[in-house]
This record gives sequence, C-alpha cells and structure tokens, in this order.
Amino acid sequence: MTSYLFTGGYWLDPQRSELLEGVHVLVENDRIKEVSDRPIVASSAEHIDLAGKTLMPGLIDCHVHVVAALVDLATNAMAPSSLAALRAARILKELLMRGFTTVRDAGGADHGLVRAIEDGLIAGPRLVISGKALSQTGGHGDGRARSNNRDISFSERVGALCRLADGVDGVRKAAREEIKAGADFVKIMANGGVASPNDPIHALGYSRDEIKAVVEEAENAGTYVAAHLYTDEAIARAVECGVHSLEHCNLIQPETARRAAKAGAIAVPTLVTYEALASDGKTFGLGPESVAKIETVRKSGLASLDIMRSAGLPMAFGSDLLGPLQRYHCMEWEIRRRVQPAVEVIASATLIGAKLCKLEGRIGTIAPGAFADLLVVDGDPYRDIGVLQGDGAHMPGIMKGGVFYKRAL
Ligand SMILES: [Zn+2]
Repeated sequence: MTSYLFTGGYWLDPQRSELLEGVHVLVENDRIKEVSDRPIVASSAEHIDLAGKTLMPGLIDCHVHVVAALVDLATNAMAPSSLAALRAARILKELLMRGFTTVRDAGGADHGLVRAIEDGLIAGPRLVISGKALSQTGGHGDGRARSNNRDISFSERVGALCRLADGVDGVRKAAREEIKAGADFVKIMANGGVASPNDPIHALGYSRDEIKAVVEEAENAGTYVAAHLYTDEAIARAVECGVHSLEHCNLIQPETARRAAKAGAIAVPTLVTYEALASDGKTFGLGPESVAKIETVRKSGLASLDIMRSAGLPMAFGSDLLGPLQRYHCMEWEIRRRVQPAVEVIASATLIGAKLCKLEGRIGTIAPGAFADLLVVDGDPYRDIGVLQGDGAHMPGIMKGGVFYKRAL
C-alpha cells in the first residue's frame, strides 16, 4: 500500500471562498482516506510537508479534443491512427502537467486512449469521452470541401473528431454505436461552427426529431447529450429537446440562459479557443472560410459569461483548443476571471466539472473516498488565479489517483 500524509500547508476547498490552515490529508492507494483539522496518525505513510503551500483538488477541463493535433481538422482526421494516438499521448501528458487531472473529451478520443491511461501505458488525466461527435451532412463535423461528395469522413480513424449521421434512425444507430464503444456521453453538432468549411454560424444542426432521438438514446444509457451551440435560437431549441451540456454558448441571451438554468443544464464556455484562433489560426492552417467566422463568436464571449452568470446557469471550465493552439490553454483562467470571482472560476474547474463528468464526490474535491487527484500550488489561487497559469510552473506537486506525476517538494 502506498500512503502519503500532507501537512503544514493551506487547503483549498472549492466549497469555501477562503483557504483553511492546519488541515491534514491522508492518501491511501488511489483514494483520499481522511481529511482532518487534527493530526492524523499514519506511521506507515510518507509525510509530505507542504511548507506553507496550498493543497487543492486536481483541475477538470470539460471541453478538450485530445486527438486534435492539428488545427486543420480534415487533415488531422486522415492521419494514420497509430500516429494520431501517439500525438494524443503527448497532448494528454501536457494537460496533466498543467494540473488537469480529469478532462472531458468532446469529440475524437476513443476507449483505447482511456484504457491506455488506466493501464498506465501513457501518462494523462482521467479521460471522460463522447467518442466521435455526431454531425449531420454539411454540419460542423463535415470537413469535406464543397466539391467533395465522396462518402468518406475517415471517422473510423483515431484522429477524426466526428462522424456523419443523418435521419432519426441514423443518429440513433450512431449514438448506440458510440455508447457501445465506450462513450460516457453523446456529443452532437447542433449549430454551425468555426473550424468547418460549409456551415455558417447561424445554421441549425439536426432536426428537432433527430436531437430528441439522440437524447432518448443517451438517457436510455443513463447519460446525457452535449451539443455544440452558439446562437440563442440553437441553444433554446437544444434545451427544449432535452440537451444537458451546452458547449460554447457565445451568443446566448438572458431568457434562454434562464430557461437552461431552470432545466438543470450546464454550460461549457470555451472562450480561449477564439482568442487563439484569431491570433494564430491562419498560421496553423485554418482555412479562409473559417477565419471569416471567428469574429462572429469571439466578440460576444465575455458578454455571454455575464449573461449566464446572471441567469444562474452553472458553467464548467472548457478550452476546446486545437493542435499547437493548446499552448494558450492557461489563458482561459484570466478570461474567466474578467467576469467571475476566482472562487467561481475554480468551482467551474472542480465542483461543476465533476458534476458534468458524472463523477461528483469522486473528483474535484478533497474528501474521504474521492480519488487522490491533488495539486500543490505556490500561493493562493483565490487571490491570484495566475498561480494556475504558466503550464504548471507554480505547481510543485501534481498527483493523480495517488501517484505523483510531478514532485518538486
Ligand atoms: Zn469542441
């Protein structure tokens, strides 16, 4: 049995808005065994003196694409699967070393990557997956040029984020296949998108009947649907059809945000990706049709955060960065912080993320029985969210499931 006892520092409990001092945390194997304000006797445990540093739960990003090694998603999908998997391994390791001990993949990652992490073949965060995202023909997941009507989307390859499925029967079958293959939730493209050639932002993806059919399939399997969405019309329609996880939401309006909150939905804004696409997208192969669409969604980003916050719609932390743009990951912290207090931003990447991953009480918290996913950080993230930035530079300790992946203590 491997066992660690953390003492002598501060404790960040996302349920409280201030750090606590004098807390002792005992880890046994992959779990947190005990949390106490009194000294814990654990003679066989290795004692770790935090020396005034802060112990906090590992972070959760609810919108990543770990197989997106390139900004050009059509080329990415065509890569040999062996190459795509090895590229994903590098992205996963980088996510973990930024302090993200759980990520929810919103299109692309398969059960093989989940297994590779669980079996210890590669170092990466806990991986919650949708499998391939479902897109209608001509929708956000259809990367084919206008003149390309060949029925080839490379969706069987590791590097593909999406698969095409049309019609109520078609989407049911696709959802069932993804769930059978290990999807933890089902992702659909229900609105136009930036990184795809033929779908304007305002385009609605899928008919109501198709969306409702996927929602039914997901609910039959005990899970939910996440939908790619920007416009108010698309979001309102998705909420009415029973979609639970609302990705992006850049153009949401107050009434829809209130209705989404009432329906118990969770939003996942991903503002950093539009900043990164605007500054570097073209350099990394984003097509001219896509570049033209960025501003439509980028300029309303901060306003959308404010609208969702005022409506009481919970927001998880997301980033949605593609390929080399992942280097901007930590910028999402400061973007959020412009609208939300630090305690809310951190709750989005812990408590709310845990809920959306259906791992409430097991991740995003330091409590007995939870996975020992822990970060040791220099300083107080409530006072300075910058300690979560810098790609892990201010994190001398990163532990996932009771195993140290970084230990400079
Ligand atoms: Zn995405």
